[in-house]
Amino acid sequence: MSELIDGRMLIGGELVESRTSNWLESVNPATEEVIGRVPAAGPEDVNAAVDAALGAFDAWAGLSMTERAQALRGYARRLREEGKRILDIEVRDTGNTIAKLRHDVASAVRGIEYFAGLGTELKGETIPASADALHYSVRQPYGVVGRIVAFNHPILFAAKFGAPLMAGNCVMIKPSEQSPLSATVLAEIVRETLPPGVVNIVTGDGAGAGVPLVRHPLVKRISFIGSVPTGMAIQRAAAEVAVKHVSLELGGKNPMIVFPDADPDEVASNAVAGMNFGWMGQSCGSMSRILLPDSLYDAVLERVVAKAEAIVQGDPAKEESGAGPMNSRAQYEKALAYIQAGIEDGARLVAGGGRPEGPGFERGYWLRPTVFADVTPRMRIFREEIFGPVMSLVRYRDVDEAMRLANDVDYGLTASIWTNDLSLAMRAARDVRAGYVWVNGVSRHFLGTGFGGFKNSGVGREECFDEMLSYTETKTVHVRV
Ligand code: NAD
Repeated sequence: MSELIDGRMLIGGELVESRTSNWLESVNPATEEVIGRVPAAGPEDVNAAVDAALGAFDAWAGLSMTERAQALRGYARRLREEGKRILDIEVRDTGNTIAKLRHDVASAVRGIEYFAGLGTELKGETIPASADALHYSVRQPYGVVGRIVAFNHPILFAAKFGAPLMAGNCVMIKPSEQSPLSATVLAEIVRETLPPGVVNIVTGDGAGAGVPLVRHPLVKRISFIGSVPTGMAIQRAAAEVAVKHVSLELGGKNPMIVFPDADPDEVASNAVAGMNFGWMGQSCGSMSRILLPDSLYDAVLERVVAKAEAIVQGDPAKEESGAGPMNSRAQYEKALAYIQAGIEDGARLVAGGGRPEGPGFERGYWLRPTVFADVTPRMRIFREEIFGPVMSLVRYRDVDEAMRLANDVDYGLTASIWTNDLSLAMRAARDVRAGYVWVNGVSRHFLGTGFGGFKNSGVGREECFDEMLSYTETKTVHVRV
């Protein structure tokens, strides 16, 4: 058994325990063994971290773009160098497979480098509003930005603070309490590569660390990745103390809209890949509703079931494992409850639905990739995000019904459209109420293209230049000439 990880937070350049003297233990979801702990921060820790960030702000914002970019690139380099160590912790802390997780550090590094190169694009404008003055605008940082993030890509979400930093802000990171251990390595890397206070990492749960951060009157800009209910709670709490800019990357109940000319083999492979069974469905962009015409329904169903059943689960640290366990007992029980709801509501369970059998699965949060057929819009598994390995197949009669079904939920994060009929593809892409749409594709993110949701799936876009702009406020100046 590996050594227990004894985590620390990062406040003002120091690796510290919490002033509460409380800790949060983290378990390996594959075995339920405790593998480490992190400090459980409270309001005093958050206040100290905000003070540190405010103290660092003037000097950081006073650097040139080249200097900030240089610092960020140094940080990204160290992150890449520590990738192996982070990966080892992350596999044990999340239960995600090593093959999947390997991309997360690389992806965080790419994001940081992307924003490091964009600093001088944060331009203002000159506006010819009158003849007797020069009117111009500049973009200025907010000051301290609070980033509160979800459990499913812990290091990726915690580490990708290139946009707020390049814009001149200092940052407070609040990782998820469900997989917090990689944040302790991140704290060491940040300490080594960035000036004290520029990035602070405060571990703990939502009530202890998240709420005080949201309610801190001097944290004007909050960016959040997580669930809809928490996003709404954050908007409410923020509004009670001050007027804040809150951006929200929230959940999805994403449709894959398959039109009759699509190839059933290709559709089935992409439905299974797009459902992210390899992440146990714990990915916000997952295709959890597959909308199929009568003509393809049986052929796709048969192939999807075969592919889901062929996924070999096992030790997430092994390269050959196709999927691990779910991240936590809470997620596992939530998915089981939805499987029960699917059965009660009359859907047909055609794959999975319970624990895998055999040695190695006695303990831990293991669940087989699960597929329901004959799902209809009145069922809970059609409407609600499960964030687990549960896919729903839904039958439709014509294009209008397909589009109605696609849009008949409160979410609007991603959508995937399958057809080679260009005009139909363009029409569906226009009419689907989602922020990120693939035509004949699933899952892939492309840096530079904005990711985020319509409807209850969020406010704001990340992974693009707009994200960086969102960490600035515009000031307009009029100089009488
Ligand atoms: P969650 O909302 O339970 O928690 C997210 C974070 O918020 C955690 O750090 C938690 O400690 C904190 N938190 C909880 N209550 C809080 C409060 N009242 N005030 C402030 N902070 C609080 O979400 P989760 O279970 O960690 O993540 C899963 C959800 O995230 C899913 O809905 C998923 O779709 C979504 N998600 C969205 C994206 C995206 O880019 N749109 C990406 C990943 C995950």
